[in-house]
Parts: sequence; structure tokens; C-alpha cells
Amino acid sequence: MSTLEIHDLHVSVGDKEILKGVDLVVRSGETHAIMGPNGSGKSTLAYAIAGHPKYTITSGRVLLDGEDLLDMTVDERARAGLFLAMQYPVEVPGVSVSNFLRSAVTAVRGEAPKLREFAKDLKKGMDALAIDSSFATRNTNEGFSGGEKKRHEILQLELLKPKIAVLDETDSGLDVDALRVVSEGINRFRESGDTGVLLITHYTRILRYVKPDFVHVFSAGRIVEEGGAELAEKLEDEGYEAYTKAAH
Ligand code: ADP
Ligand code: MG
Ligand code: MG
Repeated sequence: MSTLEIHDLHVSVGDKEILKGVDLVVRSGETHAIMGPNGSGKSTLAYAIAGHPKYTITSGRVLLDGEDLLDMTVDERARAGLFLAMQYPVEVPGVSVSNFLRSAVTAVRGEAPKLREFAKDLKKGMDALAIDSSFATRNTNEGFSGGEKKRHEILQLELLKPKIAVLDETDSGLDVDALRVVSEGINRFRESGDTGVLLITHYTRILRYVKPDFVHVFSAGRIVEEGGAELAEKLEDEGYEAYTKAAH
């Protein structure tokens, strides 16, 4: 059982305050959707939790199982069980997917997985995501299509088995088939009940496949409404207009 607690989080980029007091608790086995219009601060929340140097925490606390996450280096956060899939994953030229993933597993576990065991897990993960075996030898994220990037993220999830997974716009740029495969991956993953998922998305589409337990609506750096899966359905019908009007 793990818990990510975010208390009154304020985050600035430069001298501009973007997050203006966010409170959120995510427990293992729960799926939370963060929804909201473009520019409302959803990615900022992900980057701040990840420890991106551009995002300054001006006040508030983030705890993972009671430990102060904001005190940890990016590596320490990963070892503590936090996983972040970014909206724009970086290319890692010269490092194959297979080596990238093995290094990631090594970093998180604190020791290298046995090669045969790793190769078996990798193959199982790739098969489940309908990824061609040639993918493992390609350079990480280099020339990946939108669908390949997202499958790669889910592959990381399956291999790293984090306590808390933050997925930023995992659904963007996916065609219907890829969306289904990625959603099935997330569902397989959360069935274990060991992981809490924070699914950040602008669109309601993925929430037809991955049913959230809780939905939080972001507007102008704050959570302005909370509910269950039915709130996503309401947003699908009505959009964000009511919230963006209220914010101005
Ligand atoms: P969302 O993910 O909801 O679309 P973001 O968190 O990306 O929103 O952005 C929220 C606001 O913060 C926007 O006004 C955006 O321009 C600003 N912002 C985010 N990141 C940066 C950055 N690295 N540099 C400057 N402004 C930023
Ligand atoms: Mg955006
Ligand atoms: Mg974003």
C-alpha cells in the first residue's frame, strides 16, 4: 500500500506562479484522472513532482509514503517508486531501447537484473503491447511515432512496476488501435492493485477505456472540481467552457 500526498502545492516558472495551491492524494490501486484545458497547469504538476529544475516549488509538500519527495534527487524519486511518463519524451541517441530499459530497471532496483530474466520480461512486455521485436534494438525515442513513444512508456511501467505512475497525455497522438493497446496496458498494470495511477489528459477519449476512480478538473493552476467517472462523461458533453469562464 502506497500513498502520494500533495499538500497546497505552489509552483512557479521564472517569476510566474502556475500552480496556485494543489491538494491531491493518490493511493495504490486508485486511478485518478487530471483533466483540464490547455495551459491550466497539468504538465506543470507532473514536472514539479518529477523534480524538473525549471519548476520552482514555492510552497507546499509532496510526500510518498510519508517521505518528502521534494527533498530527493530525480534518481531517488525513481528508486522511491515514482514513475513519470512525460508529454514530450526525450530522445536518447546511441542507446537502444533494450539498454535504456535495463539501465532504468537497474537504477530503480539498485542492482542490474539478470540478462536472461530481463530478456524474458522484455519480450513478455513487448508481446503484450504488440511491439515488434526489432523495436528493442532501436535508439530510444529517436524517430518514434506517437504510438511507439506511448507503447514504450507502458513497457517501462510493466518493467519498473512503480508505486505511483504519472502519465502525462499518454493518449495524445494515438490512433484508435494504439489507444486501445495502450489502455489495455494501463488496465493490466493497475489490475495488480499495487500502483496508483495519475492519468493526465486533455481529452476524455482514453477514459472510455481506462475508467478512473476519481476525476479532478484543473483550471488556472487549481483543482476546481472533483468527482468520479461520471464527471469525465459530463466533460465529454460540455467541455471546459464553464471552468475557463469562471477562471477569468
Ligand atoms: P497544461 O499541461 O495543462 O497544458 P502547462 O503546465 O503545460 O499546462 O502550462 C501551464 C502554464 O504554465 C502555461 O501558461 C504555460 O505557458 C506555462 N509554462 C509551463 N511550463 C513552462 C515553461 N517551462 N516555461 C514557461 N512557461 C511555462
Ligand atoms: Mg499543454
Ligand atoms: Mg500538458
